[in-house]
Amino acid sequence: MPVAITCGEMLIDFVSTVAGVTLIEAPAFHKAAGGAPANVAVGLARLGLSSGFMGKVGGDDFGEFLRETLASNAVDTTHLLFTKEARTTLAFVSLRAGGERDFIFYRNPGAEMLFAPDEVNEDYIASAEIFHFGSITLGAQPSRDATLRAAQAASAHGLFISYDPNLRLNLWSSPQAAREGIMVGWPHANLIKVSREELEFLSGSADLEWGARRLWHSNLRLLVATHGASGCTYFTPEASGHIPGFAVEAVDTTGAGDAFLAALLFKLHSARNTPLAEGLIREAVRFANAAGALTATRRGAIPALPRLSEIEELLEG
Ligand code: ADP
Repeated sequence: MPVAITCGEMLIDFVSTVAGVTLIEAPAFHKAAGGAPANVAVGLARLGLSSGFMGKVGGDDFGEFLRETLASNAVDTTHLLFTKEARTTLAFVSLRAGGERDFIFYRNPGAEMLFAPDEVNEDYIASAEIFHFGSITLGAQPSRDATLRAAQAASAHGLFISYDPNLRLNLWSSPQAAREGIMVGWPHANLIKVSREELEFLSGSADLEWGARRLWHSNLRLLVATHGASGCTYFTPEASGHIPGFAVEAVDTTGAGDAFLAALLFKLHSARNTPLAEGLIREAVRFANAAGALTATRRGAIPALPRLSEIEELLEG
């Protein structure tokens, strides 16, 4: 049984073969496995922490491609579900000149939205130590109830719970629906990783410290807001601080946040049942910055996720 279980969407990213263009201008697209929670599962396995992925894909060749991607990366797929009622979701992605990503999702509905509460295997969750989930499956039913049921089971069984509220506005009916839907997952988490923009969106303020404190809750032990190349800011119940990023030649930042999260969970795993000392947090966050930076130096998400030795090399160098 895996030590860590991630739960949420897994889908196909069709990524523009040319960077610096809009989806209108993109000439062709390259097929890649995507979905943040799945990336985190692979990131953990690559670091040497056993992981499994929980969610639903289409009973089609794209779904089989995703299963093979997980399996070939040593991620447990015994709780990856397949459905014939919807296809594997497709996301067409381009990186605009300013670094902004454009997305169009094809899902009417997509298979991950059909993950149902009675399909959540609580014994599987109970056997793990870490549970990580994302917000995309919170935006539709029945996957919203399934994701929450899984998070509640993780909480009842004392797992360390991590949440990445990935903001994809065009998957929600309005910004308000996105804010409310994302916040449904918030109170369950012991660890939350957001981008600076996501924290601003959720708190309604550009002041990160104020926003973090406003959204603080009693289960939360660590909140990290990432800032791309410049690193990240961490918040604990008592403290906060900034840890600078590593200077690298970035070619594609896709998956950097997922690598960051996997690395952070890897580092915090052994201390999860103790108070998280600030020294440990600073060390873990620096380690996670290195993982994110390495991922930014290579194309794609899953192929770019680093090994432990590569992170150690960057930290020492
Ligand atoms: P997300 O992928 O969720 O948008 P970020 O882009 O903020 O998240 O990246 C997550 C982390 O990865 C950052 O906090 C940083 O440590 C690292 N990272 C991302 N982009 C770069 C970059 N261009 N150079 C160095 N480190 C980076």
